[in-house]
Amino acid sequence: MIRKIVNDYNEQAEYIALAKEIMQIRKRGDVPLACIRTYGCQQNVADGEKIKGMLSEMGFEFTDKTEEADFILFNTCAVREHAEDRIFGNVGALKALKKRHPTVLIALCGCMMEQEHIANRIYKSFPFVGLVFGTHAIHKFPDMFYKSITGGRRVFERGNDDLCVHEGIPVKRDGSFKAWLSIMYGCDNFCSYCIVPYTRGRERSRNFEDILSEARSLVENGYKEITLLGQNVNSYGKGLEEKHTFAELIKAIDDIEGDFLIRFMTSHPKDCSKELIDVIANSKHISKHLHLPFQSGSDRLLKQMNRHYDRAKYLDIVNYAKEKIKDVSLTSDIIVGFPGETEEDFEQTLSLVEEVGFTSLFTFIYSRRKGTPAAEMPDPTTDEQKGERFSRLLKLQERIAAERCASMVNSTERVLVESLNEKNGMLSARTSGNIIVEAPGDESLIGTFANVKITKARNWILQGEFVNK
Ligand code: SF4
Repeated sequence: MIRKIVNDYNEQAEYIALAKEIMQIRKRGDVPLACIRTYGCQQNVADGEKIKGMLSEMGFEFTDKTEEADFILFNTCAVREHAEDRIFGNVGALKALKKRHPTVLIALCGCMMEQEHIANRIYKSFPFVGLVFGTHAIHKFPDMFYKSITGGRRVFERGNDDLCVHEGIPVKRDGSFKAWLSIMYGCDNFCSYCIVPYTRGRERSRNFEDILSEARSLVENGYKEITLLGQNVNSYGKGLEEKHTFAELIKAIDDIEGDFLIRFMTSHPKDCSKELIDVIANSKHISKHLHLPFQSGSDRLLKQMNRHYDRAKYLDIVNYAKEKIKDVSLTSDIIVGFPGETEEDFEQTLSLVEEVGFTSLFTFIYSRRKGTPAAEMPDPTTDEQKGERFSRLLKLQERIAAERCASMVNSTERVLVESLNEKNGMLSARTSGNIIVEAPGDESLIGTFANVKITKARNWILQGEFVNK
C-alpha cells in the first residue's frame, strides 16, 4: 500500500486568516487563549504540538486554566479503559463552564475520538462539545475550527485513513531543548489487545529527506535531544518508493554534526534488526537505551497476542545488544493478566525479567479494549489474581533496578540536565541509558549536557555531584 506525501497545508491559509479575524473581533483586540490538555503517548504530544502551531498562526496564545480559555481541547488517549473514563469525567466537568462562558469552544480529538461508539456517545451525551476530530483529520484543523465558530453547528470529523502523510504543518514545541520528531504514523501489527491500529490507521512513513532536514534544523536551533517517534519505528520505510530502513535513517541523523542525543520509540522485537544494533553500537549521538516491549515471557501468550516473535527471538536480539552496545540500558513493556494467562505463563514472564535485567519496566494490567480480538477471549483470571501478580512483578523489578543503580555508584555519567525538582531543590537529569540522576546545581545547567559523579543510588534514581570531567 503506497502512501502519499501531501503538502496541502496551504489550503488551510484562508481558514487561518478568517478564524484569526473573527477571534480578534470577538476579543476586541485582546489575545484569544487556548487551553490544550494532551493525554497518552508521545505521538499524541507531537500531534498536540502541531495543533498549537496552527492555533498560534490563528493568533492564539496558551493558558493552563480552562476558566480563562476561549478554546478548550482535550487530546485524548484510548490505550486503556481508565484513560477513557477520566476523559468523560473531565469533559462532564466543563458543562458548567460552558454555561458561564457560552462563546467558549470545547473540542475533543485524539485516539479516543476515532472510535465510533465513543464519538456517538459524545454527540448524544455532551451537547456542549462543539468540535470532535480524529487522528486522521489534524491537518484540517483550521478548516474545522473555522466551521465550528461560524457554522452554528457541531463539527464531527473522523476515520478517513487516506494513507496520506501531511507535511508542512507548523509545530509549536513544548520544549526548548528536547524535541519529538515523528518519522511514521499508524501500525500494521494488530496485536490482539491493542486499539492503536484502529485509531491511527495503516503504517505510513515520512520521506527520508523531510525527516533529515527537520533533524538538521532542530540541531541548528540548539535542541539537545531528538526523539524519533513511531508506533513501530523498526518498520520505517515500508511503502516508500525509495527504499530505506530505520537503521539507515538513524545513521544519517547520527552523521549530523553537533552535540546532541538521539532517542527513539517504540521498537517492535519482530522488526528490530542486528543492523540497527550495530549502528547504535558505533554511533556518536544515539543513546545507549533500547526500549523493546516484550509484553509476556510465555510463547503461548505471545501467539495469542499476535506478537510475531517468541521468547528465543526476543532473547537473541537482547543478547546481541548486550554484546555489541557497551552498558546498554534495556527497558520494556509488560502486560499482566492477558486473557487466559496461567500462573505458569506468568512465571515465564518473571523469569524473562530476571534473565534480561531491565533498567526499568512499564507494567500494565490488561485493559479490555472494545473492538480488539482479545476483548472476545475468555478471561477467567480474577482481578485479585492479576493484582497479586502485578505486585510480584513490581517487587522483582524494583530489586533488579536498584541493583543496577547500585552498580553505577562511583562512575561518572554524561547527562542531559532537564529540570529542577521543586521538592528537593536538586536538578534532575537523564543518562544516555535514560536513568534519572539528581544533583545539586545552578538552574542555568538546564538544557545542557554535564558530567555527574554518582555518589549514591536510591532505588532506581541516582544521586551525585556535577564534575568537569
Ligand atoms: S505494535 Fe502492537 S502494541 Fe504497538 S501500537 Fe502496534 S498494534 Fe499496538
